[in-house]
Amino acid sequence: MKEGCGIAGIALEEGDAALPLFYALYALQHRGQESAGIAVHSSEDEGGARAGNIPLIKGMGFVYEVFSPQRLASLRGNIGIGHVRYSTTGASRVENAEPLVVNYHKGQIAIAHNGNLVNTAELKKELQREGRIFHSDTDTEVIAHLLAKELVRHDPIEAVKVMMRKVVGSYALVIMLDNLLMAIRDPLGIKPLCFGTLNDGRGYIIASESSAIDTVGGDLIRDVRPGEVLLINCSPRADRRVESYQLYRGTSPAFCVFEYIYFARPDSVLDGKLVYDVRLKIGERLAEEHGIEADIVSPVPDSGITFAIGYAKRSGLDYMEGFIKNRYVGRTFIMPEDSSRDTAVRLKLNVVRRNVEGKRVVLVDDSIVRGTTSRRIVSFLKNRGAKEVHLRIGSPPIIAPCYLGINTPTRAELLASKRDIDAICNFLNADSIGYLSLQGLIDSVGMGMNNLCLGCLNEQYPVEIPGEVCVARQLKLSHF
Ligand code: SF4
Repeated sequence: MKEGCGIAGIALEEGDAALPLFYALYALQHRGQESAGIAVHSSEDEGGARAGNIPLIKGMGFVYEVFSPQRLASLRGNIGIGHVRYSTTGASRVENAEPLVVNYHKGQIAIAHNGNLVNTAELKKELQREGRIFHSDTDTEVIAHLLAKELVRHDPIEAVKVMMRKVVGSYALVIMLDNLLMAIRDPLGIKPLCFGTLNDGRGYIIASESSAIDTVGGDLIRDVRPGEVLLINCSPRADRRVESYQLYRGTSPAFCVFEYIYFARPDSVLDGKLVYDVRLKIGERLAEEHGIEADIVSPVPDSGITFAIGYAKRSGLDYMEGFIKNRYVGRTFIMPEDSSRDTAVRLKLNVVRRNVEGKRVVLVDDSIVRGTTSRRIVSFLKNRGAKEVHLRIGSPPIIAPCYLGINTPTRAELLASKRDIDAICNFLNADSIGYLSLQGLIDSVGMGMNNLCLGCLNEQYPVEIPGEVCVARQLKLSHF
């Protein structure tokens, strides 16, 4: 499972936004490693955007690969937005990298998106029939064109309202429109988005996760609410306060539960919950639901660490590292003639033989997707002398794909889609396997089932997707 993207936006009273944006994107690197980009605007230069020139640098690769000190220094402007991407719609190529900058009748709009629309194809066809030309194959360009079209007859907030009425799916957006910086979260709040202050209150930051706000020395104010639009007017004569417009309200939100299980950093606070706390509780619950006689508890690093700590705490078993992760591998490079995927896993994880030899090991991981990596990991432990390997998984079985911004395989490729527990255990060659129950997960997150998206776990999605069951949350237009 790969997260789709991370986004950030910064508005400063003075100074350049590019450097803090670079650090914020660095903090969000785990959300996307294929491409990175930053676009800026200077509010001193009122009308600068109208001249049709939002400086933008984007490229393929990690944040540090795309931005040299010289490139960063060339981005002058006190407002900016940034993006890191892993492709969920559109191919992995630089045309699809974000932020996306498009022209509208008064100048340019820059936009960065995390999420996935499920009605992109029909909206795109409609816009193409009206003569609009697309340069990328992303759903972000659809959002940009919808906005550009509505800005001809509406003010920015009204234009956003019309856009939100048309798009279906998940979206957290940061948008730069002349001297305005906007943050938008879809009415179900599927993707995380929060904001805070920086530079001792003389600036604002919007980010996918609060850890990005911490990284630039800022202070989290709160999450952007589902269906809310925040607007910061950075015009020289404006008072630069944050205006809130609650444009839409769902009957209940549908926060992606996998942000808590895997995607978000453990040091992030999402919708009021510290991710670390949730993962610790999951580990404890896993020990209650699937306790077993064993000698040590060991995580699959890094994603299994907090769960394993919780499991060890509750079970009373010793926590011991069975694997050490090589943190310098980055994107795995395999020689073409090496057909074995074992090399990729071995480059990343090495067994600490003395810790596992002759032991009954409870091996804790966050989730199982195809099962191929888990099978290799179990066999590494056994080949290095582990007597028994008992897998414990911090999520229920993933049985269905995600259509809302997470890159997942099809049902046919998902290990748990068509197999029962015994067949899964056999496939993985483990001595036992225990998945966290759905109720255990809901209790550990502590938000109630009706406030979470659980689509890939129970096949009930919060928006209509052809061929899938929808537990529709009714959306209401708010009056503000
Ligand atoms: S389907 Fe799964 S991964 Fe996708 S948004 Fe819902 S909970 Fe998250």
